[in-house]
Amino acid sequence: MRILFNLLVPGSFLITGTVLFLNTPFLSNITPFQIDSGASILILLTALLAWRFDRSRIIYLLQTLLYTDIVTRTLVGPLRSTLLPIIIVILLINLSLIALLKERGIHSVRGIFVTALPLIQVALLFFWFKTARNLTLPNIETAVLNLPPPLSELPELILLLIIVALLTQSIRFLRYPNPLEGGLLWVIIALTAALFFPAGVQTTLLLSAAILTLLISFIEMSHTLAYKDELTGLPGRRALMERFSKLGSRYTIAMVDIDFFKKFNDTHGHDVGDQVLKMVATRLAKCNGGGRAFRYGGEEFCIVFPGKNADDCLGPLEEVRSRIADQPFSIRKLARPLKKPKKTAKKIAKSNNVHVTISIGIAEKTARYSQPDAVLKQSDLALYRAKSAGRNRVCSENRGAKIRTGTQT
Ligand code: GH3
Ligand code: MG
Ligand code: MG
Repeated sequence: MRILFNLLVPGSFLITGTVLFLNTPFLSNITPFQIDSGASILILLTALLAWRFDRSRIIYLLQTLLYTDIVTRTLVGPLRSTLLPIIIVILLINLSLIALLKERGIHSVRGIFVTALPLIQVALLFFWFKTARNLTLPNIETAVLNLPPPLSELPELILLLIIVALLTQSIRFLRYPNPLEGGLLWVIIALTAALFFPAGVQTTLLLSAAILTLLISFIEMSHTLAYKDELTGLPGRRALMERFSKLGSRYTIAMVDIDFFKKFNDTHGHDVGDQVLKMVATRLAKCNGGGRAFRYGGEEFCIVFPGKNADDCLGPLEEVRSRIADQPFSIRKLARPLKKPKKTAKKIAKSNNVHVTISIGIAEKTARYSQPDAVLKQSDLALYRAKSAGRNRVCSENRGAKIRTGTQT
């Protein structure tokens, strides 16, 4: 669901919206100056964010788009019909390259090279043109007429390059399904759409929509980075603090901690530990009773139940606890054993299942503990009691000594 969101929002709306807008009479209400100013502001803002996020690939792309737009709009006459296909081919090759490039930031030597690559291309193109027929700029146009018709198979070639760019970027998005990679896919789609319009107001508008998509992707990404825990996908500590500030007059907070997790890491390795953390998070996220799960830190989670007292939450939390304790986790890739195991495939599959339990402490808002921080502290005390009472259980703090015991392991 989240992946689909990262793919479709806002790119699909912006690009299809712009294509539809280009076919309406409203287009004539906008002057080229307004469109150019808008596009320049968008490029500047996006470049600023790309620099702050240290994304050399985006700086590369923005330059490529900018130079392409300038060149295609300034070329005229036969020079234009000769050069335009070459520029489109170079642009499309660049789009595939951007999809393949590893992001190493702007500040490394490689990053500086990547950032400078579009300018190098422009310089090389200019140099090639100047030397191809010993051209000087004034007679370039007549000289171009003498060049053989370039890339006679162009429509097929362009189609092929578009498909390659779309495929490589789609694969990249599947590998890194974040808003920015989704946005880059829409840039390719917008540029493909731009091929159906004459260079000018329409193409710049499409280009602006593509850049706006990237800009919004950056904003979306900064939100994700600030509020989401990367490993588990749950909202993190900052999001929890924000949720705390919006809690009303009644709420319950649960602290969840994985039992003997240090020993688990020591036995199975940190990577398997990470997988278990993810799976526990997935199950906590499905907690009933209106609870919202957050990763508090390490192997500790917090579930907030707005508008609920502790009694309301015991049932849903007990349900989550028993679901985790009763259903083994299937670990996808355990470390490859040194010796070839003699076990049968079935036994190996079985040994890839691990059992994990959690302990939960809960506390509700009371007259004495009226602030979320104080309630959280109380639920931490309850958690401590759940641990010392034998783990794998739910303990409620400020509701007397109510202890629910689950299955011991
Ligand atoms: P207890 O039942 O008392 O909670 O014992 P415990 O071993 O779970 O508690 P302790 O706080 O001593 O250990 C927590 C361990 O969680 C330490 C650390 O190795 C592990 N841990 C914390 N964060 C991560 C993480 O992001 N990934 C992995 N794999 N392990 C983590
Ligand atoms: Mg702990
Ligand atoms: Mg623990």
